[in-house]
Amino acid sequence: MGVPFIDIKRFESGLLESWEEKVRVLSKNASFIGGEEVTNLEANLAAKAETKYSVACANGTDALQLALRALGVGKGDIVLLPDSTFWATFEAVVNVGATPATVDTNPEDLQMDFEDFKKALEKVKPKAAIIVHLYGWGSSRLDDFRNLCKSKGIPLLEDGAQCFGVKYKGESIYKNAFLSTTSFYPAKVLGGAGDGGAVFTNDEALASKVRMLSNHGRTSHYGYGDVGWNSRLDTLQAAFLNLNLPFLDERISSRRKACQKYYEVLPSLGVNVIHPPKDFFENGYCNVTLFDPSERPKIQEILKQKGIGFGNIYPGAMSDQEGAKPYIQGRYGEEHRTGRICSSVLNLPLFPYMKDSELEEVFAAVREYKK
Ligand SMILES: *Cc1c(COP(=O)(O)O)cnc(C)c1O
Repeated sequence: MGVPFIDIKRFESGLLESWEEKVRVLSKNASFIGGEEVTNLEANLAAKAETKYSVACANGTDALQLALRALGVGKGDIVLLPDSTFWATFEAVVNVGATPATVDTNPEDLQMDFEDFKKALEKVKPKAAIIVHLYGWGSSRLDDFRNLCKSKGIPLLEDGAQCFGVKYKGESIYKNAFLSTTSFYPAKVLGGAGDGGAVFTNDEALASKVRMLSNHGRTSHYGYGDVGWNSRLDTLQAAFLNLNLPFLDERISSRRKACQKYYEVLPSLGVNVIHPPKDFFENGYCNVTLFDPSERPKIQEILKQKGIGFGNIYPGAMSDQEGAKPYIQGRYGEEHRTGRICSSVLNLPLFPYMKDSELEEVFAAVREYKK
């Protein structure tokens, strides 16, 4: 039969019909920019994120760039970020004119390593730092990251593109972040009908700065307080997200059920499946297993034969990318564990409303590999 790595077409019944109706009404009225849908979405997002402010924007990469610009990061500034992340995190730093420096990965939670970060902070004296909450959870040292940055007066931006719906110590992970972002790329946990993103904060001045930058630096219709760009979220996108939000909890619990099944079965098959650290309630964005780099091609070959999708998130460190060379200031941490982790990581299929029979197919393939 085969199992896709991800299937985002399993919409709840009635959802597509209400979307078609929404498109019809908004199109008939030519309501394409701003308006009630965007205002309502921002209120809905802030409620979910448990933050005072939420600003919707064009995509998750822009959200990072808007956040960095709002923090005053620009030319001549160094920004620390994890060596293990999606390229957009690195790109955002370069695109605002700043210089990126990467920090190695912790082998247990697979997030940026706190001890390496602490040392890098002393050496580099960055203008700001970015932490990325990968795979649907975050660092076991998240409070330490937040407290250290606060005590040193270094703004910590949290790239939460993968953690919408994640709880940390019982609250939204975004709630106690100084400034955080998310993405509504269709494959993310809250996916749009195209691109979208948002910035979250409890700081009023930062929220207004982000809003202003996302709309050409406007202070009035033809008055400009800064040079920003057009990073507004379309009305249609906002409407789609508003229609999807009521189903988010159900999707997350369905994802988590599949995660639990993986935790239950994979260790008994001798597979090293990574669990989130204890303070996290994961959103089930990703399954993460580690294979010896010499073994990984073998399991991947069997998965391919059986038509089972898989991912390698991520196949390479930021600091090893060709595109990083002209920009990177340095790579911090002595071992470059990120390189090895990137050669070991294998993500098995995970998405909302995965069937038990699909999970069984995945397990059957793993059993065959182990034979
Ligand atoms: C998806 C993602 C982004 C970028 O979001 P887009 O909406 O695709 O621009 C940034 N950071 C991380 C960690 C991501 O996973």
